[in-house]
Amino acid sequence: MSEFDYDLFVIGGGSGGVRAARVAAAGGAKVALAEESRLGGTCVIRGCVPKKLMVFASSYREGFSEARAYGWDVEDGVFQWPVFQGHLHEELTRLEGVYGKLLVNSGVEVFDSRATVSGAHSVRVRGEEKTAKHILVATGGRPTRPDMPNADLGIVSDDLFDLEALPERLLVIGGGYIACEFACIMAGLGVEVTQYYRGAQILRGFDEEARGLISEMMIEQGIDMHLGTNILEMSEDGGKIAVRSTAGHEETFDKVLFATGRAPNTDGLGLEEVGVELGRGGQVIVDEYSQTAVPSIYAIGDVTDRVNLTPVAIREGMAFVETVFNGNPTPVDHELIPSAVFTTPEYGSIGMTEEAAREQEPIEVYCTSFRPMQTAFAGKPLRVMMKLIVSKESRKILGCHIVAPAAGEMIQLAGIAVKMGATKEDFDRTVAVHPTMSEEIVTMRDPIRTS
Ligand code: NDP
Repeated sequence: MSEFDYDLFVIGGGSGGVRAARVAAAGGAKVALAEESRLGGTCVIRGCVPKKLMVFASSYREGFSEARAYGWDVEDGVFQWPVFQGHLHEELTRLEGVYGKLLVNSGVEVFDSRATVSGAHSVRVRGEEKTAKHILVATGGRPTRPDMPNADLGIVSDDLFDLEALPERLLVIGGGYIACEFACIMAGLGVEVTQYYRGAQILRGFDEEARGLISEMMIEQGIDMHLGTNILEMSEDGGKIAVRSTAGHEETFDKVLFATGRAPNTDGLGLEEVGVELGRGGQVIVDEYSQTAVPSIYAIGDVTDRVNLTPVAIREGMAFVETVFNGNPTPVDHELIPSAVFTTPEYGSIGMTEEAAREQEPIEVYCTSFRPMQTAFAGKPLRVMMKLIVSKESRKILGCHIVAPAAGEMIQLAGIAVKMGATKEDFDRTVAVHPTMSEEIVTMRDPIRTS
């Protein structure tokens, strides 16, 4: 008989927490999980999944006009937000149910309420104290608003899926993943989108050439992009929002979306009180095994603000179980993680940007940009880009950047080769699949730049 109520108490039922709970329970541990909102967390309920369904919904508008060029007698459709929204919420409820079933079927006890940490081995849940040999904090993050008067007039990404109606005019603030993805989604759904980004180019931290092309393509699809511009003031104006920008523009919008970053959910969790160290942004500080300053307390996923992506949180959860329950200390590999930004066109990347690689060592850059067959045939201006950054010395691919429809799908596969340490010559030896866009990745013969 254990001296604790549970072997593991997981706080947070998102991708990372659910996976860790399930795997630990399947291995015979006595596990409980508390979730104060809906099982599935940010990814399933208010992030990746509903976002991707909105990406699909938004893609049909261009599809109608392309179809006509291919000889189809079709009219432009009318997007009915309530119809889509109904289906969307049905799907999210279904997925939430799947997550619940997975937990229960693995033998995890689920508390649908908030839990806080009250000791190195104890949590408070539903007014009761529960003890656990290990506690796993997987509480994720939340969108933040800038600190400015009337900021609550704006919405954040969580609110987008519950809008009663689509706005006619939307202002997006920010230039990161969420800002750029939703600017494209909303434009695709027929919303008039303006975007303010305070920096010189959107998607800071990504490859400059890719950022430039995506920005150009976003402007091409009608997004009114203002770089070097931020929101200065906002006020209510007859049910709409009047905005003044730092560049002196004064405009009125139906909605203002703050996509200005996310913060880890550690407020009021009781972590610091028991000795867990938090960073300046409130993130839980962990070592390579996801262990905090309190040896019995671990943390995974966005709450640790390492690499804030669902598949990474899942890996961190699995590595935690391997380390703590299977006696096999497993650090999480955060190197060479492929990822995608679901703009139109999408951006898939793995490894270093050209700028970062050039700082590190001598490189060759292979890059091609062209109008792909499918949309060029329909007279569309879309351009795509394939880029490889190659180490002159080792010949290894240091970075791969693809801006194209379905780039997310492409980078998953190219990512395997890059992760395996493929060289440019390995890519060259691979026969092209013709006719595809992605064949260009194996047919670039001469570097466009070396340094
Ligand atoms: P990001 O950190 O990517 O972007 C935040 C943006 O807001 C930046 O452009 C930033 O500007 C700007 N910003 C920050 N503060 C202010 C301010 N006070 N006023 C004006 N602008 C401001 O955060 P996101 O919320 O977009 O995404 C969070 C994370 O979620 C991502 O980093 C990613 O890990 C994950 N994510 C992944 C997705 C995917 O894989 N497809 C999709 C969505 C999210 P600046 O650049 O100048 O700092």
